[in-house]
Amino acid sequence: MDTTTLRHCPICLVTNMPAEIQRVRCNVRRFRDRTFLVWRCAVCRSLHCEKVENLAAYYENYPIRNQELDYFLRAWYRVILQRLVQAGLGKQHRILDYGCSNGLLIEYLKQHGYANCFGYDPYVDRRAIASNSL
Ligand SMILES: [Zn+2]
Repeated sequence: MDTTTLRHCPICLVTNMPAEIQRVRCNVRRFRDRTFLVWRCAVCRSLHCEKVENLAAYYENYPIRNQELDYFLRAWYRVILQRLVQAGLGKQHRILDYGCSNGLLIEYLKQHGYANCFGYDPYVDRRAIASNSL
C-alpha cells in the first residue's frame, strides 16, 4: 500500500499527504474478496478512492438500487445521521451524496430538516433518483 505518495484532492484542490489510507473491502457480496484503497484528505477531511478499473461492473445489479425507504433503512440512516452530527454536521450545511443510487439518504435527510441536500450518481439514470435530490 502506497502511503508515501502525495495526492491531489479534487474537493479542496490541495495536493497533500493523506491523513489516513486504508484498504476497504467491497460492500457487494459477490465482490467481497476485492478491496479498494481509500484515502482521507488531510486538509478538508473528504474521502477518496483510488481509480477502480471497470467500476460499472460493480454497480451493475447493485443490490440496494431497488431499496425503498422502509423501517430498516430508516433505522440504518438514523445511525448514519447520528455519526454525521457527531462529526459536526449541522442543518445549515450543504450535503452532496455522490453516488447516491436512488437518492434515499437525501430524501431521509430532507425529511429530518436538512434542506440543502443533493444527490448525484453517474451510474443511475437521473429519473431514477428521487426528484428532490437533483
Ligand atoms: Zn481536500
